[in-house]
Amino acid sequence: MTMRDTDRALVQAASAVAKLRCRSAAHTRATAARTADGRVVSGVNVVHVTGGACAEVIAIGAAATQGVGPLETMVTVGDRGRSVLTPCGPCRNLLVDLFPELRVIVGPADDPKVVPVGDLGF
Ligand SMILES: [Zn+2]
Repeated sequence: MTMRDTDRALVQAASAVAKLRCRSAAHTRATAARTADGRVVSGVNVVHVTGGACAEVIAIGAAATQGVGPLETMVTVGDRGRSVLTPCGPCRNLLVDLFPELRVIVGPADDPKVVPVGDLGF
């Protein structure tokens, strides 16, 4: 799938959230997701010995909290300038179940691409 201008903007949005909000060991990744009508929601992960929560899950909860959706495109980036990151296995399962038409932006950061969530595997 071709990267659109709105996809590049979504990577920039996630990167901005990571730079601003991922400033401790408790928050190391940021996700930004766009709905079909152009709304953008974001979230950061929560790292904790009890398991915490992935940034993707937090972003999904933020979308539900704000009453927006379904999510059309999603990207996750790491803190401290780390690259675009691929969702973990459990998140892939969750995303396929909730948003089977979701487009996911995956790395590398200097040449990201968009793939259907179902193509990520589990
Ligand atoms: Zn995950």
